[in-house]
Amino acid sequence: MPESQPQITIADLESAREKYARERARRVRPDGLGQYRRLASAPTIVSHDPFTERVERPPLTDHVDALVVGAGLGGLQTAIRLRQAGLDRVRLIDDGGDVGGTWYWNRYPGVHCDIESYLYMPMLEEVGYVPKWRYAPGEEIRRHMVALAEKFDLYRDAAFHTSATELRWDEDGARWQVRTDRDDDFTATYVVVSSGSLSLAKLPGVEGIESFRGRTFHTSRWDYDYTGGDASGGLVGLADKRVAVVGTGATGIQVVPAVAEHAARTYVFQRTPATVDVRDNRPTDPEWAASLTPGWQQRRMDNFLAIMAGEPFEEDLVQDSWTANAGLQRKMITGRIDPALDPAERELAEEMLDLATMNRLRDRVATTVRDPATAEALKPYYRYQCKRPGFSDEYLEAFNRPSVTLVDTADTHGITRMTETGVVVGESEYEVDCVIFATGFETGVSGLLSGSLMVYGRGGTSYFESLMSGFRTLHGFYSNGFPNLFQLSVFQNANSVNYSHILSEQARHIGLVVAEARSRGAAWIEPSGEATEAWAKVIEESAHDNLDFLRTCTPGYYNSEGQPADMKVSYGPGPIAFHRLLEEWRRTSIDEVLVTDPEGN
Ligand code: NAP
Repeated sequence: MPESQPQITIADLESAREKYARERARRVRPDGLGQYRRLASAPTIVSHDPFTERVERPPLTDHVDALVVGAGLGGLQTAIRLRQAGLDRVRLIDDGGDVGGTWYWNRYPGVHCDIESYLYMPMLEEVGYVPKWRYAPGEEIRRHMVALAEKFDLYRDAAFHTSATELRWDEDGARWQVRTDRDDDFTATYVVVSSGSLSLAKLPGVEGIESFRGRTFHTSRWDYDYTGGDASGGLVGLADKRVAVVGTGATGIQVVPAVAEHAARTYVFQRTPATVDVRDNRPTDPEWAASLTPGWQQRRMDNFLAIMAGEPFEEDLVQDSWTANAGLQRKMITGRIDPALDPAERELAEEMLDLATMNRLRDRVATTVRDPATAEALKPYYRYQCKRPGFSDEYLEAFNRPSVTLVDTADTHGITRMTETGVVVGESEYEVDCVIFATGFETGVSGLLSGSLMVYGRGGTSYFESLMSGFRTLHGFYSNGFPNLFQLSVFQNANSVNYSHILSEQARHIGLVVAEARSRGAAWIEPSGEATEAWAKVIEESAHDNLDFLRTCTPGYYNSEGQPADMKVSYGPGPIAFHRLLEEWRRTSIDEVLVTDPEGN
C-alpha cells in the first residue's frame, strides 16, 4: 500500500487544529493519571489468576546461575539466550501461572497481535514453526511461548505465581540474594528484570464499582465461566445478557465485535474513538511458507524495523497498514529525521500527511457505520501519532447491529459512576448485567523503576533511591553499583512498534555479554559511573523532544493523560542505529563492563 497522498491546504490544517484542540479540551481532566485505580485495589473484581490454579510448594533455598524476573517475551527470550550462553540453571519467575506475560493474561475473545505474526513471534526458525495466520490469535502466541520454554528446558527451574520482592547483592559471594512473596530465599549469579511496561491492569477510579451487583471483570482476567466460549469466540453465556464494554483502545476494538455477536444488548462506553485502519488478516499461504529460506525471519524483522525507523530499504516485505503509515510513526517511536529537510517544512509535511491519513480513517467510519450520529461519534479527531493506532475489519461493522449502542462519554470525562444495577453517564443510567473494563494498564511502573521490587547493590545502595539523582545506565541494561543485574525496557535503549523485536535484540545482547564474561573469567559485569554518565548524556542529547507535540494531543497513556513528562526516553537515531552501536561496542569496548579485578576496580 502506498502512503496516502495528501491533498491538503493550509486552511484545512488550521481548521483541523482548531477542531482537535476543542476535542482535546472536552477530554482533559485535572486529575490526569490520578483518575485511575489499580485492578488489585478493587476487592469485588477478580485480580487473581483465573487461568491456572495456584499450587503450594516449599520455599526455594538453592543457587541458580541466573534469575529472570518476568516470563513474557523479554524474559523468555533472555532465558533462552542465557541457556545458549552455557548457563545450566536458569530460573524464570512470574506472577502468572505459566510463561506468556501479556499473552498469558490477555485471553479475551478476539485477542490477536496487531503486528504481523511472522515478525512478532520470536525464534520461529529455531522451532521450525510458521504461524497459521498473518496476525496471530493470542492463544497461538502463548502456545508458541510454551513450546519455546519446553524446547529450551526452562520449566525445570521455573517458579510461577511468584513475585520477586527483594534483591540484595552479597559482596562476599558475588551473587544476588533473592526473596519472593512465596518465602523463597535463594541466590543467583545473574539477575535479569523483564517485568514489562504495560502489566498492571487499571480501572477508572469512579464511585460505585464495588456496589455493582452484576458480573464485572477486566479484559486481562476474562471470566469465561460467565461468558462461555473461549478466545476464539462462542460467548453463548451472554445470549440473554446486557453487557457494558468500557474502553475503546486496542483491546476494546478487539473485544467489542466478539461480545456484540453474542450479547442480547451491548453498550460500548467510549471516551475517545480509536483510529481503526484496515486489518486484512488471512491464513498463511502454504506455498509462501514452503518457499521460505533460512534466515527469513530475521530478514523480515529487519526489513520492518528499517521501514518503521525511516532507514533505506529495497522492498517492503510486509506491506500492511503499519508500513503504509510508517512515515507517521517515526516521530513518536524512532524519530530518525532527514537532516536535509528544513525543520519547519518537515513539520508541515508531516502534519499534512497526518491529516490526509486521519481524513481517510474518518471516511472509513462514515462509509462503514450506517447511523450518521453513531458514525460521527466514532470519528477520531486528533493527530495520528497521539494514540496507538488500531486495526480491525469488524469493529466498526459491529455498530450496525441493532443490539449495539455507542455511549459517548467525552463530555463527562468517561463513565460517571456505577450503581448496583448499571453504569451512569451524566444523568443517564444504563442497566446492565455485566461490565467489562477494557481500560488498559499502568505504564512504565513495573520492575526496577517502580520500587515494588527493592534492590540493594554494592554497599547496600538502594536502586530506587539511586534513581532520585537521575536514571543512569549503560545502554539501558546495567547500572554502576549493581553488578550482574540487567533490565529490559525502552529506557535509554531502543523502541519500535514491533516491541518483540526490540526485546529479541536486548535478550541477544545480554546473552552475548554474559557469554563473554564467562569466557574471560570476569568476576562480574558492571559499567563504571563515568560510562553511565556518558550514556545518559548521549540519550539527553539525541532523544527527540516530542513534548510540545504531546501537549497538543488528546489525553491517553502516550502523554500521561494530557500531562506529558519532560523526559528523554530512547536513543534518538533509532533502533537500527542503536543495534549497530551495540554490535560495535561488543566488538571494541565490551571490556569496560567486564570486571576481572574487583579489588582494582
Ligand atoms: P488503552 O489503550 O489504555 O485503552 C483504554 C481505554 O479505556 C481507552 O479507550 C480509554 O479512553 C478508556 N477509558 C479509560 N477510562 C475510562 C473511563 N473512565 N470511561 C470510559 N472510558 C475510559 O488500553 P488497551 O486497549 O488495553 O491497550 C493498551 C495497550 O496494549 C495498547 O496500546 C497496545 O500497546 C497493547 N495492546 C496490543 C494489542 C495487540 O494486538 N498487539 C492488543 C491490545 C492491546 P481514552 O482513550 O479517552 O483514555
